[in-house]
Amino acid sequence: MSNLMSNYSPLDVTFTKGSGCWLTDSSGKKYFDALSGVGVVNLGHCHPKITQSIIDQSQELLHTSNWYRIEHQEELAVRLCKLANMDKVFFSNSGAEANEAAIKIARLFARQKDIDMPVILTAKESFHGRTMATLSATGNNKVQAGFSPLMSEFIHVDFDNLEAINKYSDNKNIVAVMLEPIQGEAGVIIPQQDYLNEVKTVCEENDWLFILDEVQSGMGRTGKLFAHEYNNLTPDVLCLAKGLGNGVPIGACLAKGKAADMLLPGTHGSTFGGNPLVCKVALSVLDIFEEDTILDNVNAMSDYIANQLKKNLEDCSAVAQIRVKGLMIGIGLDERIIDCTKLLQKALEDGLLINISGNSIRMLPPLIITQKEVDILIKKIIKLINA
Ligand SMILES: *Cc1c(COP(=O)(O)O)cnc(C)c1O
Repeated sequence: MSNLMSNYSPLDVTFTKGSGCWLTDSSGKKYFDALSGVGVVNLGHCHPKITQSIIDQSQELLHTSNWYRIEHQEELAVRLCKLANMDKVFFSNSGAEANEAAIKIARLFARQKDIDMPVILTAKESFHGRTMATLSATGNNKVQAGFSPLMSEFIHVDFDNLEAINKYSDNKNIVAVMLEPIQGEAGVIIPQQDYLNEVKTVCEENDWLFILDEVQSGMGRTGKLFAHEYNNLTPDVLCLAKGLGNGVPIGACLAKGKAADMLLPGTHGSTFGGNPLVCKVALSVLDIFEEDTILDNVNAMSDYIANQLKKNLEDCSAVAQIRVKGLMIGIGLDERIIDCTKLLQKALEDGLLINISGNSIRMLPPLIITQKEVDILIKKIIKLINA
């Protein structure tokens, strides 16, 4: 019995403590968190510098309002813009809201171009959030079921297929393309190396905005601070959230050039967005990336994990594909050989937290994972798949 609405169906476990890669439940049992709270607690649970930052800021000031200047927000904007080579930022409380801001920017861009019925191209199997606009953008019927009429603004095209986008070059209503550099919720789908560059070129040729949803792939998850750095390009709009606050709710919509000048006074806002607490914590997250060589660890552990998975699972008939970019890890399984629906519960019993998307195991372990911890994780995964 619960007074909570039934939109979640949580596993029957309650965690009461966390430290680094590990969680402890109410009975004292320990679990390896290979999901980082779904890509949020990238620097590990209860990172001491984050904890201290929360204590310090909560003794100074939690919240004022965006009707007044906010020092930490301004500082965070400067640092994020510098890191991402962008011009301006809007701060939200979540990934969906960061994307919502991006979609509003695309609409205002359409007004400027005298387009009455603007359309944004997004990818099949994509995930952009649960608000009405972002679920319409999402390329997944399960997310949309029951919520029609959807916003007609989105056309879903095949991911990692330039032709599918090129086909719309003559369509005068297209204003933007919105993509995840690596599809996360879909089970870690990594496109070909130059896909994003080619899409960006098509966007430039057609005067479309190139919007990247890095809510999951950003903040070091792939071994660079932003996944699109692998392509040496800059999008017009970049959305962040999840790892940006390491557990405090903050999202960011960054924009460059013409896209940076769309939101004017009165066009958008958020009561909580970018308050002193969350911005201070996000600044501490950036500090830790600078001071603690987090990305070096991601890249070293990524290579090690990829090798270990290959070595131990390549010959396993249940394993169809191993996909690794940084510490975004997908293991495609053959459903004829292994029952994916049982894996979550089995892993839980063995003290391991993972996610199953379709017929893939998805893992997003903390970026601070050590080689010893990788060995523990790999052992549990092999046991899970071979059981
Ligand atoms: C998680 C996620 C979102 C939604 O973020 P919320 O904070 O849950 O609103 C959007 N896009 C991507 C790529 C995500 O992984």
